[in-house]
Amino acid sequence: GAAGLFCGGVHTLKKQIPVITGQIHGLYDASNLDVKFGICPVDEYTMPVEVGCSRARMACDCIKEIPDRHICYYTHAMGEKRNLRNYIIDHFREALEKRWIHVYFQPVIRTVSGTLASVEALSRWIDPQKGMISPGIFVPLLEDSRQIRKLDMYVLEEICRLCQLQREQGKVMIPVSFNLSRMDFFQGSVFEEVEEIRKRYQVPRNMLYVEITESVLIHEGDVLYQEIERFRQAGYEVWMDDFGSGYSSLNTLKNYSFDEIKIDMAFLSEFTEKSQNIIKAIIRMAKKIGLHTLMEGVETREQAEFVQSIGCELIQGYYYGRPMPFDELKRKYWEKHWKVETPELRQYYGALSVVDFLTDKPLAVVEVSRGNVRYLFTNEEYKETIYSAGMESPEQTAELVNAQAGPISKNIQSFLTDVVQSHERKIMTYTVNGQYMKLEAEYLASHEQNHLILLSHTNFTIQKEENPSDNLDEVIRNLLYLYQTVSLVDVEKDTAIPLMMNSPYQDYFHKKRTGIRDMVEQYMETMIHPGDRERFLAFNAQDSMKKRIQQSPEGMISGSFRTLGHDKKYHWDIHSIIPVILKGKNYILYTARISPFENELNIACTSSGEETET
Ligand code: C2E
Ligand code: MG
Ligand code: MG
Repeated sequence: GAAGLFCGGVHTLKKQIPVITGQIHGLYDASNLDVKFGICPVDEYTMPVEVGCSRARMACDCIKEIPDRHICYYTHAMGEKRNLRNYIIDHFREALEKRWIHVYFQPVIRTVSGTLASVEALSRWIDPQKGMISPGIFVPLLEDSRQIRKLDMYVLEEICRLCQLQREQGKVMIPVSFNLSRMDFFQGSVFEEVEEIRKRYQVPRNMLYVEITESVLIHEGDVLYQEIERFRQAGYEVWMDDFGSGYSSLNTLKNYSFDEIKIDMAFLSEFTEKSQNIIKAIIRMAKKIGLHTLMEGVETREQAEFVQSIGCELIQGYYYGRPMPFDELKRKYWEKHWKVETPELRQYYGALSVVDFLTDKPLAVVEVSRGNVRYLFTNEEYKETIYSAGMESPEQTAELVNAQAGPISKNIQSFLTDVVQSHERKIMTYTVNGQYMKLEAEYLASHEQNHLILLSHTNFTIQKEENPSDNLDEVIRNLLYLYQTVSLVDVEKDTAIPLMMNSPYQDYFHKKRTGIRDMVEQYMETMIHPGDRERFLAFNAQDSMKKRIQQSPEGMISGSFRTLGHDKKYHWDIHSIIPVILKGKNYILYTARISPFENELNIACTSSGEETET
């Protein structure tokens, strides 16, 4: 129950409130009744009684939904608000006709590339009398008065008009997301109306993204579901807006399919460890179920860096720009040298959405463009790995690789080129500053001359259980990278550990560690030219190996075999079997390196009538 009181003596009234409440509760069957009081103090007695009563009622209405408040005084602001409400509802048509409603645009920026992914269309009512009215005020009122569909279609038409204009002028088209309200779905098919407008202006579907607020989707039946599906099947991206703001976000995710979630800015309003952990969990979950992620309301650099570091793909917020008129957007676009994403570029970067950077594995994303390597993303663990190898920063390592500064850089470059060409997942090992490094690479996507590669990097020198050779001489370590293959073989234990593998089929040799005989055979079949295989087997024959080594004047044995290189061609490699002693135990170091005389031997070989396979 609610009561409006229009009363002169506030003090006597205050004393009366509990009395009145008690009396009402005393009535038959009324003990559970929630009694609320709206009070309008009267200072001038010229006020008509109806006005006073209606103000008291207005005050009472304000606390209707608040369970623990029972008294509310009328304030002037309440009256203003009521007036504005009436004004909005009464003048909406006029506002549309006279173009008092403007469409503003707010940029959405991609974290890894800094590209302008899209803009969100947001309406502003700029009233000749009342000044700027925020959509936070007029949108709910238009929803209540069933006029919101008119607004939303007006906004869409404005977007399409600008899109067409851009195209006609030969300028870049920027993808735009627009908001749909719940009420939009219950006045005939909103999909069909959107299509009709879009077609009229010949705007491609992939230039328009539909935003639907999650609270809209609660407990709604088939109509909403089917309309959303129609949008998606036709090729529109559909985004869930304000994720996390309602009380059944997760259920909504379960019941509908979306392309992207916009995480509600409320999570950023208090930038605490707790809220950060919640955001991380949302990002991780979104990636698991294949959704792109956008963080709303990013205002500071600190927030932007955090959002990027956890692998959230897109950012919207004052940090990059407030909602602004189209002309201002164009100006800002020139000023900031923004690059607008094409649908192809969007798809290319979209390949990153599946990568979960919140693991304890060292992960990085690099972009390889015409042989040039650039880090787009590195997580903390990856940076740690780089520091452990004595490097200063990911950027520094990229510079070295790009400059082809030495054999390691060259090897890494040809390794990455190989990953790009083969689209395969590959592993290479190398040593730098006395550390054994393992680099794993996985191909993700290509766009024109650019390729995305996911990297994982481990320093297995410091991982005790995997450490193959604590005491290998520093000098030998640094010599290793001259080789195509270096393995440390423990004949007694029948194991071989690759210290350096810079060749195709390396995956196998990285996984397989025991069974030397099998490994030799596998190596031969995948890597050695058929014409050299017999000699290769004899060279690796275990029973005579010890004797051959003893008899050789160098204390080691070598042989030349045509071996598959990184370019998948056979090269003459010198293979050597070198006995070494580590901690008083006998090992064999198996090495293969390109022969310095490769070309001459090649010529010699072809001229002798034998064909060289490629
Ligand atoms: P929304 O769709 O979630 O839009 C984002 C709101 O957050 C916008 O408020 C924007 O100005 C604000 N915002 C963006 N970045 C920041 C930031 O860094 N910090 C803070 N504090 N705020 C930021 P706006 O424009 O007032 O819109 C409010 C809501 O009104 C929108 O929320 C949307 O739900 C609704 N809306 C706006 N225009 C339309 C429309 O044309 N149609 C419909 N149906 N709804 C609209
Ligand atoms: Mg929105
Ligand atoms: Mg939002």
